[in-house]
Amino acid sequence: MRILILGGTTEASELAQLLAGDSRFEATLSLAGRTVSPKPQPLRTRIGGFGGIAGLEAWLRDHAVEAVIDATHPYADQMARHAVAACEGLALPLASIRRAAWPRQERDRWIDVATPQAAVSALGQDPARVFLSLGRLELAAFVAAPQHHYVARTIDPPGDIALPPDIRFVFDRGPFDETKEEAFLTREHIAFVVSKNSGGAATYPKIAAARRLNIPVVMIARPDKPHGVPLDSARAAVTWLEGQLAHRPSSTSRRSV
Ligand code: NAP
Repeated sequence: MRILILGGTTEASELAQLLAGDSRFEATLSLAGRTVSPKPQPLRTRIGGFGGIAGLEAWLRDHAVEAVIDATHPYADQMARHAVAACEGLALPLASIRRAAWPRQERDRWIDVATPQAAVSALGQDPARVFLSLGRLELAAFVAAPQHHYVARTIDPPGDIALPPDIRFVFDRGPFDETKEEAFLTREHIAFVVSKNSGGAATYPKIAAARRLNIPVVMIARPDKPHGVPLDSARAAVTWLEGQLAHRPSSTSRRSV
């Protein structure tokens, strides 16, 4: 059975591991190409956008894909929307791995905002030391508040984008560790953390460390992400794929379509 996995997440990598060497499935993992050196994957990998909904539909048709798993990040809402539209258009089964958001704990000092622009306002007028734990494309919003000192942690250098004047980069991709995150926030005298509510374990230690240090976290809200059949893990995706395999039309009828 031919499958497309829309990836770029821990769950997509886990699914790739689970499907590697499973002769029932012929899976391709698709990455957007945001990271210069993505982690090596055990499945055939394609990199780069499809060219909108029409491009994705054409790719799915050309590669005779029979099922799609959307395992993109909770903030990757455009790709999710395109997957829903293309799969509806082609009547293809689609399932989506949905990562639960981090729940607010009692001693968390979260300031909930809707957008990176609103996060800038939440930092206030007085110069502050700010840890930006965001993707590089979200950093441009902070140009509007040049009075702050920023430390940004990204996987790759930011490239040619507008940046606030006082910004330093730390390159790392995690997973992170709570003790080290606490030491980092203390050493940098961080007054605000700016984060997305990504969910999962890999990037949670900064949130736990901020709680212990009583540092406010400006939390950018999740987008409303459309989805197919909701699943909560890579393992659940394999079970769902097995169900698709069991119920798919026989090879004779598929050939005659
Ligand atoms: P997005 O806003 O939903 O997607 C923008 C465009 O990038 C899509 O329309 C598509 O281009 C292309 N694209 C996105 N994911 C793709 C994939 N898996 N394979 C091929 N093309 C893809 O997504 P994004 O926020 O830019 O995120 C890009 C990737 O980074 C995703 O794979 C996501 O899982 C991962 N990621 C995102 C975040 C985040 O905070 N957004 C964090 C960690 C990882 P076309 O329209 O040309 O097809």
